[in-house]
Amino acid sequence: MASNLNPFENAQQEIKRAVTRLGMHPAVYEILKQPMKVLTVVIPVQMDDGSIKVFTGYRAQHNNAPGPYKGGIRFHPDVTLDEVKALAMWMTFKCGVVGLPYGGGKGGVACNPKELSRGELERLSRGYIRAVAEVVGAEKDIPAPDVYTNPQIMAWMMDEFSQLKGYNEFGVITGKPLVVGGSAGRNEATARGCSIVVREAAKTLGFSLKGATVAVQGFGNAGSIVARLLHAEGCRIVAVVDSTGGAYNPAGMDPGRLSEHKVKTGSVKGYPGTKSVSSAELLTMECDILVPAALENQITASVASQVKAKIVAEAANGPTTPDGDRVLTQQGVFLIPDILASAGGVTVSYFEWVQNNMGYYWTEQEVNERLEAIMVKGFQEVLTMKKLGKDIDMRLAAYMVAVKRVADAMAVRGWLGNTTSQVAKMEVKPA
Ligand code: NAD
Repeated sequence: MASNLNPFENAQQEIKRAVTRLGMHPAVYEILKQPMKVLTVVIPVQMDDGSIKVFTGYRAQHNNAPGPYKGGIRFHPDVTLDEVKALAMWMTFKCGVVGLPYGGGKGGVACNPKELSRGELERLSRGYIRAVAEVVGAEKDIPAPDVYTNPQIMAWMMDEFSQLKGYNEFGVITGKPLVVGGSAGRNEATARGCSIVVREAAKTLGFSLKGATVAVQGFGNAGSIVARLLHAEGCRIVAVVDSTGGAYNPAGMDPGRLSEHKVKTGSVKGYPGTKSVSSAELLTMECDILVPAALENQITASVASQVKAKIVAEAANGPTTPDGDRVLTQQGVFLIPDILASAGGVTVSYFEWVQNNMGYYWTEQEVNERLEAIMVKGFQEVLTMKKLGKDIDMRLAAYMVAVKRVADAMAVRGWLGNTTSQVAKMEVKPA
């Protein structure tokens, strides 16, 4: 992997830029450039044939100055400690940018869940949470689903942890099924948060979503629901792609029907009345709003130089390379960075934890209203930060908001020694 595509190094660069631009003490960067704690665990699992297979799992805890660590658990063959560390770091700033009272964490197990039976998956899930039990908990570190983990896996983990403790601790994990303390609105939350900030960005640029054209890369949980929500706001969904192909119709498509077509055929490709389109064509096509909602490192410098969208909303984590970022900024594209555009999921995870702690549950409408308020406030704070200097782009502004919040928490807790007053009183001066 080229050095500029290493997610851990990319995240470190963003933190350094933010700490430098904020004029903070270098100790802030020295603390934030790495996780505070990492745990590697060995998980022996009895397979259905009676053999024992030994898996390796990780939990990285990046920073807990603003509150407990928070972040998902990934089950994937390519999981490495470095990846988990980078993802934990991102979580600190995703929570920070929208002001959630959490730091960042992330976990993972190197495994291929597609090759495991349901029983093996359950034993692995229970084994993982037993192995990391000493470092997680509703007041310590709260995991959630990530790639190839789901509400059922969260339920097994919550159950195992509760059995270890001897009482139900629903708040140890979020993304649970509704019947064991899950939250209404969690499934749509990432996409809903993204569509809210897209609407705010369009307002800022002075155009209406009614009739605005949208292209979405990735048609899974994030992409398909963003398409549906933006369609409901009056947007025209002109192109979508998934890993098997794409569909293009300049007159617009109905995302609900597209989802039905994908369920039936396994692809968005071939949806009636559409032409085929590739992922590369989609990223550079004429449209008002581009939503990368699939993979990392999609918008490189050469792709960015051909992007025609007015707004790029990063529903995916890390879809733009640092070089791509610079080109988008030079071209005047309005970028809504991943830590903000995809913060809706962790925000509703936070609501789930609050509801578990209270033992009182909100309606979907209440959840959505609270999500709306947090996303709009987060967007406005980033925009205000951006306006403080010509050299500040939206990604830097988002990191500055987040880093400042975490650094202020570290300062008042006394983690920065006698640099405390300097950091806590620091103000961002216009350039
Ligand atoms: P998902 O697995 O549900 O969907 C991924 C989609 O991307 C699928 O439609 C897949 O076909 C498509 N895809 C894969 N490779 C592709 C390629 N080469 N070209 C085009 N499309 C391709 O995953 P998701 O939950 O929707 O997550 C998507 C992105 O959003 C990831 O970066 C994830 O980290 C990020 N994200 C998701 C959430 C969430 O709550 N779901 C929260 C925060 C961030």
